[in-house]
Amino acid sequence: MATLIKNGTLVTALDEVRADVYCADGIITAIGPDLDGRRQAGDEVIDASGQLVFPGGIDPHTHFELPFMGTVSADDFESGTASAMAGGTTTCIDFVIPAIGGSLVDALGGWHEKAAKSVGDYAFHMALTDPSERVLAEIPTIVRDHGISSFKAFMAYKGAIGVDDEALIAFMQTVTAAGGLLWLHAENGDAIVERQKRFIAEGKTGPEWHEPSRPAILEGEAVSRALTLARLYEAPIGIVHMSSRDAYQAYAEARVRGQEAYAETCPQYLVLDDSVYRKPDFEAATFVMSPPIRPAGHSEWLWNGLENGLIHTVGTDHCPFRMEQKRMGVNAFTQIPNGGPGVEHRLELLWHHGVGGGHFDAQRFVALTSTNVAKMYGMYPRKGAIRVGSDADLVVFDPTKSRTISAGSHHSRCDRSLYEGFEVTGAVTSVVANGRVQLREGDLRVERGAGRYVPRAARG
Ligand SMILES: [Zn+2]
Repeated sequence: MATLIKNGTLVTALDEVRADVYCADGIITAIGPDLDGRRQAGDEVIDASGQLVFPGGIDPHTHFELPFMGTVSADDFESGTASAMAGGTTTCIDFVIPAIGGSLVDALGGWHEKAAKSVGDYAFHMALTDPSERVLAEIPTIVRDHGISSFKAFMAYKGAIGVDDEALIAFMQTVTAAGGLLWLHAENGDAIVERQKRFIAEGKTGPEWHEPSRPAILEGEAVSRALTLARLYEAPIGIVHMSSRDAYQAYAEARVRGQEAYAETCPQYLVLDDSVYRKPDFEAATFVMSPPIRPAGHSEWLWNGLENGLIHTVGTDHCPFRMEQKRMGVNAFTQIPNGGPGVEHRLELLWHHGVGGGHFDAQRFVALTSTNVAKMYGMYPRKGAIRVGSDADLVVFDPTKSRTISAGSHHSRCDRSLYEGFEVTGAVTSVVANGRVQLREGDLRVERGAGRYVPRAARG
């Protein structure tokens, strides 16, 4: 069966053109001004008149079914990739997080098992949680034999999955030599632990103390330290979920002096501010994630980075917990599972606030949500492009249609939204993934297990 998308305006990271797209056997087989002649009986046709057609979104940062802080994130790979699909994200890159002392290859096996029920395509990053001989020895294997060329280490979460500078140096050297790219969760873990303990001892136990326990200055310090080490050891690195002016300035300074480094930010750091922590009745716990939502003013710097190209990608860090899970921390904010939903709303929020808000054009929007991700993570041009031979992952988008975001209507299992009641103009109307129509006029028709693993190329 084939799919024809007619009369749309194809928008890529480079340009836009009015054309039809014909998809067969999971790939794009023709692009042209009028492809009606190719139609066969049984083909599905989407009329995209007056609408835009983007390459399928790629979210570089999700945590489905993640065991974390004594519970498990509320979306599994099926509901998580379905929620993504509903919002125009056809591929998700999830983080394999190995147990401390465990094998990377074993952990990857577990993630493959969990991900087999995905409705959309998926790839993995590998987290590095301890610098054991075994872990360091497995890194080249992970790149060479398992299609994973990106890694992540945590400078925060001291005493759990966080690592010290000695480990960081070992990871930078080993990952770089193996043709991988090391990404960092950059916050100063030692200072955060000291502040958390002190706040709790002082009776400052509510979720409103989460941001002050890990202020932006500690993100800036960690970014600066990581980039200093990376410079010394000649390792390219990336900073995930950049949230603050302090982090951005430290990063921009390194870029200006010519260092190879990359950055990702997330919609929640672009469109929210720390007033969310003043919500009553423990609702503020919905916004407890790390890094935290920053005071007003920080987001301007992140928008600046998206405008000037220093920030390359926008991921969601989708890691939802239901309110009953968040209540594990009702007596101490340090026990609130860190994370929130968002995989479904990345495209619409970035379109509304980014393009609609005058920060960048539709080409930059496609670059940030798809093409840059595909290129950075070794999936281009299979993903991130509208080209003959690319995977037929396409989003039909009505720039005039408005919608209101709500936990009542999203497809995540989370019972809260970070963007409850937000109105956006510009909405995903149809989604094609691997050539099959997955969303049509709001009707999600995904299939458990239809998603495929996307192995990725090493760097260089
Ligand atoms: Zn994350």
